[in-house]
Amino acid sequence: MASSIETGADTGSGTAATALWRLETIPGKGKGLVATGDISPGTLILSDAPLITTDVIKSIESTEQDLARALKALPKESQRAYLSLHNNYPGKNPLSNIVRSNGYPLGPGSDVGGVFANVSRINHSCRPNAKHSWNPTLQKQTVYAIRPIAAGEELSLSYLSGGTYSERQEQLKNLFGFSCACELCTLPPDDRRASDNRIRRAQKLNESIGDWDKCRYSPAQVLRQGRELMALYREEGIVDDHLPNLYYDIFQVCNMHGDQARASAFASKYCELKRLSEGPESANVREAMPYVADPRKHKGFGKTQDWKTDLDQIPKGLDDEDFEKWLWREKV
Ligand SMILES: [Zn+2]
Repeated sequence: MASSIETGADTGSGTAATALWRLETIPGKGKGLVATGDISPGTLILSDAPLITTDVIKSIESTEQDLARALKALPKESQRAYLSLHNNYPGKNPLSNIVRSNGYPLGPGSDVGGVFANVSRINHSCRPNAKHSWNPTLQKQTVYAIRPIAAGEELSLSYLSGGTYSERQEQLKNLFGFSCACELCTLPPDDRRASDNRIRRAQKLNESIGDWDKCRYSPAQVLRQGRELMALYREEGIVDDHLPNLYYDIFQVCNMHGDQARASAFASKYCELKRLSEGPESANVREAMPYVADPRKHKGFGKTQDWKTDLDQIPKGLDDEDFEKWLWREKV
């Protein structure tokens, strides 16, 4: 009989009738999760409470003993799930090395990590089809589809925040001890070079857009760069957090210059994408939603009124292309 760690729609359900994934052996990668049917973007694939969190660790010296104590206190099935996870560093300190091989921080910037029975089994891809995020309300790691996933396709998450081919390989080797052979990393040399060039250009643009002085004194240039960056993400097939984060940055630029109409529209686009990859209960969406209704609530509003608009100036009845042009302050 299948246990809850072998199939499931949501953690612990384990009912084959609703299972969106199953655990399979993946050639060259050990185990992995594979879609049992077609999955559309925005679908919650699973949500997982941590088996163990690293705040049980009292000191570096006692790490292995602290983890052993925490593990012993878990139900037998959870203990088995923990011990069956992949260990990239066999040898001494197996419990700590399972954390090292499978742990995820509980939210961006958190210094507490968690090990998850199911999420931890999803392999890495530099062009993943799913996205994980820690939901502080649910106290669970959620995994949403961010691309259409076909039945039989392996589910994948990115363990990195991007980078060129060599940057990615180096980080994956250093942090997780493996070389990546995902579809992006195995492109023919010319395509890989083109991809790296786009990624390098995107990194430069992203840096420029994040520069407060530029946003304050050259906002028109920042918007042009934002538009170019969005096109690069599309061309490169990037559908992770980079795009909503760009929308949020541009929301702030428009808001800084009193353009409530565009600020609201960008905040709305940000929320729409975040909802798709983090679900309706996303803390990020909850935080940003008030700015859609009233961008003036954001502390950065109105440093100047150079681009002053009111909310009722969001144009209605434009087709997508013209709306985008309006949004990025190009001539409609
Ligand atoms: Zn890769």
